[in-house]
Amino acid sequence: MYHRVIESKPRIQTHWHYVSIVQFRTQMKIIDKLGFTPITFSDYQLYQEEKLTLPKKPIIITFDDGYLDTFQNAIPILQEFDMKAVIFVMGNRRLNRARWDELDQEDVCELMTDEQIRMAKNLEFEIGAHSLNHISLVGLSDKEVEFEIQQSKYQIESILNTPIHTFAYPYGILDNRVSGIVSESGFSFACGVYSGSPKYGETKYDIRRLAINHNTSMLGFIAKLLLPYQYVEWLYHRAKSGRETQKKYSSKRASTNGQAKKNASYTNPVFEKYN
Ligand SMILES: [Zn+2]
Repeated sequence: MYHRVIESKPRIQTHWHYVSIVQFRTQMKIIDKLGFTPITFSDYQLYQEEKLTLPKKPIIITFDDGYLDTFQNAIPILQEFDMKAVIFVMGNRRLNRARWDELDQEDVCELMTDEQIRMAKNLEFEIGAHSLNHISLVGLSDKEVEFEIQQSKYQIESILNTPIHTFAYPYGILDNRVSGIVSESGFSFACGVYSGSPKYGETKYDIRRLAINHNTSMLGFIAKLLLPYQYVEWLYHRAKSGRETQKKYSSKRASTNGQAKKNASYTNPVFEKYN
């Protein structure tokens, strides 16, 4: 999972969701050298329908938010390596800047235009939906969640004149209700980040991804590709959420003199906020 691919460091150093162009090219070279072949969710769907054979080592590269630099910087490098990717864009087509990214006030952070999205699609990149307005869907009413999800599908389909099958949750935050609405709205896949099964395809509406950012070292990147890294993260977040639940139990026990309820709420293992 990528976000921005930029020339140099952003002006505000608290950003984490970017890689430099140099880093990105090196990473694509590594993917290529290690024999991975990028595919899209549409390819995977065709494979499931037994209409397509997958390459030996398939991989899905995704970009969230549809930044202008995905179009200007990432796509040309991907084309150098003859690689495909999936780009999740905003359904609200009046959004031309990443307004939700309040740290970016000093930065331009422009988003792809309708025309650029069309061009990316014509270059065989898969376009997915990332909601209408980049609001965390979990806190919204059913009606609002439906609107954010269904309208984003509709708006992007209107630009491309083709069905949109894949969704990415804003901030990777979801619960059963939200993923249920995504599934009922005609999507075939939806991506989270730190939730979902570590086994690809087991949770189609909560696909786990590996975040790649400027802190990802070359060795770290190779480890993410070659080791069962999803399982490592899955175990880590499970252990962490176990500790947090335990903490809740013990503080409750202390405050209610040992009358802790057996069903203390379990928090979904999404601890990090990202776009
Ligand atoms: Zn996002």
